Amino acid sequence: MIVMKFGGTSVESSEAIERVTCIVQRERRRHPVVVVSAMGKTTNKLLLAAREAAAGRRDQALSIVDELRTHHLIEGLALAGPAAAELDRYIRTHFEWLDELVKGISIVGELSPRSTDAIASVGERLSSLIVGYAFRAAGIPAQQMDSRQFIITDDSFTQAQPIFEEIYPRLRDRIAPAAEESVVVMGGYIGSTRDGQTTTLGRGGSDYSASIIGAGIGAEEIQIWTDVDGMLTTDPRIVPGGRRVKQITFAEAAELAYFGAKVLHPATVAPAVEKNIPVLILNSQRPDVTGTRITAEPAPSTNPVKSISCKRDITVLNIRSTRMLLAHGFLHRIFEIFDRFHTSVDMVSTSEVSVSLTIDHTEHLREICGELRQFSDVSVETGQAIVCLVGENIRHTPGIAGRAFQVLHDKNIRMISQGASLLNLGFVIAEQDLVSAVTALHTEFFSKLDPNIFD
Ligand code: ASP
Ligand code: MG
Repeated sequence: MIVMKFGGTSVESSEAIERVTCIVQRERRRHPVVVVSAMGKTTNKLLLAAREAAAGRRDQALSIVDELRTHHLIEGLALAGPAAAELDRYIRTHFEWLDELVKGISIVGELSPRSTDAIASVGERLSSLIVGYAFRAAGIPAQQMDSRQFIITDDSFTQAQPIFEEIYPRLRDRIAPAAEESVVVMGGYIGSTRDGQTTTLGRGGSDYSASIIGAGIGAEEIQIWTDVDGMLTTDPRIVPGGRRVKQITFAEAAELAYFGAKVLHPATVAPAVEKNIPVLILNSQRPDVTGTRITAEPAPSTNPVKSISCKRDITVLNIRSTRMLLAHGFLHRIFEIFDRFHTSVDMVSTSEVSVSLTIDHTEHLREICGELRQFSDVSVETGQAIVCLVGENIRHTPGIAGRAFQVLHDKNIRMISQGASLLNLGFVIAEQDLVSAVTALHTEFFSKLDPNIFD
């Protein structure tokens, strides 16, 4: 059994779903469970309709719902073949319910997290319904299963936490046998509480669903089909010309995700990591590209660095205090302030009398500095960037830092840090040096490529 997850762009239209159908057809003998996101930008539009309704703009809200209805009907019915009339009825029923909900919210003028989830869930309920019809019309025996009966969560609506001891037995006892019989189609992102209230796992939650379902059915592989070829040796938004990384470890992928390369959020694959199930990143528009395979164990590679990631628009705070010398509790005092203002710190370096750290959300910068200045001197530098070399072999290969800094000899490098995982080497530079720095590092570390690892 495998899990095949398709994101919003992969199911945005009837043509896109036809591509999905071909991709699933090729994997049929591996008994896929297909997990889908809502079509295109449906979730955004549903949430917008909900907000418009809550703000009392009933007609605007209803017209957004209407636009979604038309889109789902046109694209869905194009795929359903002889069952089109039946699908038409189902889609209309969902939208009638949605109309009523939106009207109700506009009357009350209030949107609770619970009704937010009820509305947001419609995207995945519909996309999984439509994809099921599309498969059957194409001759693939398929059944849609309502994820809300399997993905049981707590009641933190809009950010619900899965309850694994409820979920895994359900998936094992009902989804796994069903997948032996025919292709199972499930909506990502959605779940329900024990007493049947609809919940969602948070925006972008379908990858998480795929990973939970893969772990629950004991899948041999989880395929995440998206609109990029996989992970690259460098961030294409900063420096083009990166090469595809064919194999990477979960730990490396997590480091990359943390600093910018947003292909996959590391937390979403935790259930897969725990069960040691490989995760593949694949491109539904170029299904023959082999993508990136993420596994627990590293594959041997002659390249110490797997990828260079970076993050722009970073702010560095330098905090100095002579009183810090020999004073315990100083770091605690600093971090408590960041914590209080919900501002997360990315990189930290300390000396005997100073602490430098980076943040990327500056909404509360003024308040934070105000508090820090009560016991220290603070200077703030904006327009900085973090660059990070990532690779399991960095720890086993002497001289990586030497090579990196040699290449960057004419740049001002700050706040060098090697994470505890020992598989990253990060530092801060001025944002204006970012492109030239990453280009130079890319040439240094990726001119010769191990063909087993890179494409
Ligand atoms: N449709 C949901 C969202 O847009 C979940 C997902 O796509 O992963 O956030
Ligand atoms: Mg998505």
